[in-house]
Amino acid sequence: MAVGERRMKHWGWGYEDQEPTPEERAEMAEGIRTHLGFGAPDVERPMPLEDIELREPRIEPPASLAEICSSERYDRVAHGLGKAYRDVVRAFRGQVENPPDLVAFPRSEKDVANILEWCADASAAAIPFGGGTSVMGGIEPRFDDDRPAVTVDLKGLDRVLEVDHTSRAALIQAGATGPSLENQLREDGLTLRHFPQSFEYSTLGGWIATRAGGHFATLYTHIDDLVESVRAITPSGNWESRRLPGSGAGPSPDRLLIGSEGTLGVITQAWVRVQERPVHKVSCGVTFPAFAAGAEAVREISQAGLYPSNCRLLDEAEAALTGASDSGALLVLGFESAHHPMDDQMELALECARDHGGDPGQVSSSDRRSRRSPDGDGDSVSAWRNAFLQAPYLRDTFVAIGVVSDTFETAITWDRFADFHSTVMETADRALARVCGNGRVSCRFTHVYPDGPAPYFTILAPARRNHEVEQWDEIKAAVSDCVIDAGGTITHHHAVGRDHRPWYDRQRPELFVRALRAAKAELDPSGILNPGVLFDPA
Ligand SMILES: Cc1cc2nc3c(=O)[nH]c(=O)nc-3n(C[C@H](O)[C@H](O)[C@H](O)COP(=O)(O)OP(=O)(O)OC[C@H]3O[C@@H](n4cnc5c(N)ncnc54)[C@H](O)[C@@H]3O)c2cc1C
Repeated sequence: MAVGERRMKHWGWGYEDQEPTPEERAEMAEGIRTHLGFGAPDVERPMPLEDIELREPRIEPPASLAEICSSERYDRVAHGLGKAYRDVVRAFRGQVENPPDLVAFPRSEKDVANILEWCADASAAAIPFGGGTSVMGGIEPRFDDDRPAVTVDLKGLDRVLEVDHTSRAALIQAGATGPSLENQLREDGLTLRHFPQSFEYSTLGGWIATRAGGHFATLYTHIDDLVESVRAITPSGNWESRRLPGSGAGPSPDRLLIGSEGTLGVITQAWVRVQERPVHKVSCGVTFPAFAAGAEAVREISQAGLYPSNCRLLDEAEAALTGASDSGALLVLGFESAHHPMDDQMELALECARDHGGDPGQVSSSDRRSRRSPDGDGDSVSAWRNAFLQAPYLRDTFVAIGVVSDTFETAITWDRFADFHSTVMETADRALARVCGNGRVSCRFTHVYPDGPAPYFTILAPARRNHEVEQWDEIKAAVSDCVIDAGGTITHHHAVGRDHRPWYDRQRPELFVRALRAAKAELDPSGILNPGVLFDPA
């Protein structure tokens, strides 16, 4: 590690230097227990890195790659698990059962090609790794066989290489994290404007590989919408599409790589569509007596072609839990533009909200050429935003005080939404009562489209210490079965990885997976890339 370089915690969210002191953690724990009404009285501590039992590396790199490969304890542990609740619990307890044997840090595409060539010769699996924020077991070297694993961490490829101002596009390397690429684009007054909640640590390559969904967006939500062309290194050679604003020339080569989750190639760079940084911003919180009324308002807003920059409906429980509102469901509404004021659009959206019983708070606006958020955001809007940004950090405390926490997300068309929502809520409630004795389920829309919303459910429940993973697995299976049976997708933006496989296998057409297998046989003939993720090779 270079002197002064910050390291992420080996077990949870955030950098090592952001870890709260035991006193701070105890204070947070007390607050959570009071708020939720459950949670253990004692605060557990994570197993120190040096006490974690790790199996010995089973392979050594060739001399030509030794300089960019590491078998250091920290590197193997930090690349051994993702960041789902079940991953954080296991890392907290030092249960890193499938660490990579080596972690490779390529500095160039040539390095990537050499690593893949060596992995094929050594019959080792190669796992592309961006920020390691996968919540679906996407980067855990968990295979059906005992082949060795080499994790290929792209963090050395993190530059904005070129900006095309005329077409408003930028060529960015895959290992750039959200803050890194935004800081570089800011020098040109531009933004990619793709904000997954994991933005701080996840990477462009990871977003493309998982078809990530950004927040604060209703029109361009998934990274798919922002990708102009992709370049990847596969075991069979390089794959690069033409830069085009649109094309009708057959199935899109980019679409095969977007969402391929490291199974077809290592994405090294992409041309992406960027925008000028917004300067006109308006936001408003609207309360509704009930979630269903808010949902009708949101449907009308999304079908009116207004495309707010934020249109997020929280149910009563979620609004209260985040401290955003204690008087019903809350719609967090925002519009922004680099070009023109958005007050008219806001007024039209508020008219839709009022028509469905919504009660708007004060509209906050900012027309200044400022990099800050609108001044004087309504309290409910900023309370919700703070809770959203803090949630991943809070989860570490949940683990330490014996609270099971998870989120699961899906999408459904409007015509089926009401029944779908009540079925999933009831199933989750029943699962929590059965597995944990009690608990809370809440729902919000993370994204809305003219033809349907993307509901996102949060569960919190008392854990049985040392049995959290079993509890989580049982709850996850119950709600996932329900989501698939009721016609939803197993994921709107969290990807498939290893952990969503049983339900993805039920969702996708059988002929499609045969076509994917054929593509894999061509691009990755030895089957070294991320075995077990997304689909099984032929
Ligand atoms: C707290 C939290 C909040 C989250 N919020 C969101 C959210 O709002 N929206 C959302 O979409 N997701 C979210 N996620 C999930 C996760 O952040 C996304 O899946 C993200 O896109 C992963 O990016 P990454 O760089 O961390 O990839 P990794 O976790 O390193 O990898 C994810 C998958 O992509 C593959 N991969 C990574 N880089 C490459 C590459 N260069 N080439 C080929 N394959 C590659 C890996 O092999 C793996 O299968 C969240 C996760 C957490 C923990």
